[in-house]
Amino acid sequence: MAANILLVEDEPAIQELIAFNLTQAGHHVLRASTAEAALTLVKNALPDLVLLDWMLPGVSGVDIAKRLRADERTRHVPIIMLTARSDEQDKIVGLETGADDYITKPFSPRELLARIKAVLRRRAPQMTDDAVEVQGLRLDPVTHRVTGAGAPVDLGPTEFRLLHFFMTHPERVHSRSQLLDQVWGDHVFVEERTVDVHIRRLRSALENSGHDELIQTVRGTGYRFSTQQ
Ligand code: CA
Repeated sequence: MAANILLVEDEPAIQELIAFNLTQAGHHVLRASTAEAALTLVKNALPDLVLLDWMLPGVSGVDIAKRLRADERTRHVPIIMLTARSDEQDKIVGLETGADDYITKPFSPRELLARIKAVLRRRAPQMTDDAVEVQGLRLDPVTHRVTGAGAPVDLGPTEFRLLHFFMTHPERVHSRSQLLDQVWGDHVFVEERTVDVHIRRLRSALENSGHDELIQTVRGTGYRFSTQQ
């Protein structure tokens, strides 16, 4: 389960150590030392998860969490707060700001990785390795295999990610911009038409087993993965 993780930590030694451990575990790490730098990175590409230090110079981690939660685009990005405080009251404040979890320094790399996995499983099911199946269409993230009614479906990497996202977020309409954020991790530098191209490829790959009908166009809005007409 490799995730794009934004690490916001102002102490260079701690930032280095955490980034090293996350990279070792196969994650891709973006780093920021200030709220401003963090928010700029988020603006360019939506991370899968944010590790947020509570105590930052200037705008605090708590304020960043509040801002991310207040914005429609970033509302659902999982956040884990990092802090030196072990106070129960602080923990409550941290979770009230919208953080998904809270980890007190010093922590072991193992503990951090376990927390990241748990939060991703809860908040971003497309990030986990669990196989998903909908009406005979089965996608297995571990083997990277897709089958439709038992027959193998050959998908390119983007179509695979797109289908995985759809299957783990069914029955809702996703705009092109949201899909770019969630599947490409970039809604700024990739054209929205790109989404249509990959939707077309995905549908054509699913045609044989009839599963292409699960991917519906919602006129003027975007796309939806649905078992209903
Ligand atoms: Ca700090």
